[in-house]
Amino acid sequence: MDRKAILIYDCTLRDGTQGGGMSLSVSDKVQIAKRLDDLRFDYIEGGWPGSNPKDIDFFNTMKSVPLRYSKVAAFGSTRKKDIQPEQDANLQLLLEAETPAVTIFGKSSPFQVKEALQTTPEENLGMIADSVAFLRRNGKEVVYDAEHFFDGFQMDQEYAVCTLRSAHAAGAHFLTLCDTNGGTDFLTVTDIVRTVRKALPDARLGIHTHNDAGYGVANAMAAIFEGAEMAQATINGIGERVGNADLITILANLFKCGIPTQGGIDAAELTGLARYVYELANMLPEPKQPYVGDLAFAHKGGVHVDAVLKNPGLYEHITPEAVGNRRQFLVSDLAGTAHIEALEGFGIKKRDPIARVVLNEIKRLEHEGYAFEAAAGSLDLLVRTLRGESKEIFQLVEYRVEVTKKTAGAPQSCAVVVIRVNGEEVTKMAYGDGPVNALDSALRAALTSKFPELTDLRLEDYKVRIIPEQRGTSAKVRVLIESKMGARRFGTIGVDENIVDASWKALADSFRYAHLLIKA
Ligand SMILES: [Zn+2]
Repeated sequence: MDRKAILIYDCTLRDGTQGGGMSLSVSDKVQIAKRLDDLRFDYIEGGWPGSNPKDIDFFNTMKSVPLRYSKVAAFGSTRKKDIQPEQDANLQLLLEAETPAVTIFGKSSPFQVKEALQTTPEENLGMIADSVAFLRRNGKEVVYDAEHFFDGFQMDQEYAVCTLRSAHAAGAHFLTLCDTNGGTDFLTVTDIVRTVRKALPDARLGIHTHNDAGYGVANAMAAIFEGAEMAQATINGIGERVGNADLITILANLFKCGIPTQGGIDAAELTGLARYVYELANMLPEPKQPYVGDLAFAHKGGVHVDAVLKNPGLYEHITPEAVGNRRQFLVSDLAGTAHIEALEGFGIKKRDPIARVVLNEIKRLEHEGYAFEAAAGSLDLLVRTLRGESKEIFQLVEYRVEVTKKTAGAPQSCAVVVIRVNGEEVTKMAYGDGPVNALDSALRAALTSKFPELTDLRLEDYKVRIIPEQRGTSAKVRVLIESKMGARRFGTIGVDENIVDASWKALADSFRYAHLLIKA
């Protein structure tokens, strides 16, 4: 295997922002760029100045943000047909971005040239060569992205290689082979990269893949194994359609394979980086993300838990700490007594009499429809209650929720909550977008009047699931709430036949647990 150090080229701020539901402000982008610089990513693609003013804004801002290691790259296309590069507005904007590196993309097959550019294959070769040479003359490091390269190569191998030759001969530092549509498989990627390496032995190759066929990371790794020196991808695989290859997974795989990165990126930083980007992008983390997801090292089946406690290597391919993640044991009715060890975090030992009591109660509640995997807050409260340690911060006296719908206009929701805090009754009323929102607002108002520190509690996510009828029981509703208190996120749960009451239980637990965190 090739042990050459790999250059890491991040496209999150350009390709990544093309992902559905993804939006970053200029200041978010600057924060991410600084973080990537701290971690020693080689290139940070900042945006396409020719496509929107926000990207121009980013490059202008970056002129006064010194980076210690990373090179910022501006992205754009080759010159337009039938003009000189000097007259091309897009290339001009790339120079005005004042970045050390510039990445330009060009077409790889006569089909794309004819359909998209409506010009001749010869003119396309001229567009590539002229644009690269122009950027070189202006002192830029040039990365040439061969768009649709793998598809183009399979249509017309000779022409596809000619496009690379044009960029190479004009002085491009890197030739990036792109699987723009994401439909190529890794055996084909291997073959094509091998052929290109033979055709252009002294060119330095990069790889840029998308995940449309679920091969994004596999294709990037395949190209690296064949000698590609630069990996282009996005943090968390955020990007157009189903996304780009996940750079986090690529970096973890490189670490695992013992392939160094040029900047010596520390794999233990990967979990933190992945979550940081989710946070800034206002996206929920993907729990099953390889290496860094919350469930990446979570064990649930009794046999698995038992074995991992003896030796983690039995069900883990790498240690969680190596990528900055952590091991966890999920409590479940599948579990044997080994799960008691999982309760060690609560200070419960396997032989403690309380261990049985806790497990039995968990099993009983799971039978009723509870699931504690994503509700660590409610589980903690349950354990404390069973041990007689819990001090209720409030008692419910009553709540009322009313939804009014008139002929015209949206329905109105109003909730009244009466609770008792230290013997004193508090009554609050609130309106909301819906009954649960009104209930949350009324309870929040009542509690923060007595516990101002609870103002910081944020409701981050609310999920409802119907649990189908089982024999002898009617259908139930399970509500999972994810809350955030400072840097801590936690889940709470409620189950009931009535959706409002299931929500009430999850909400009440969320406030109780937040209060506990403040005291801790
Ligand atoms: Zn792309």
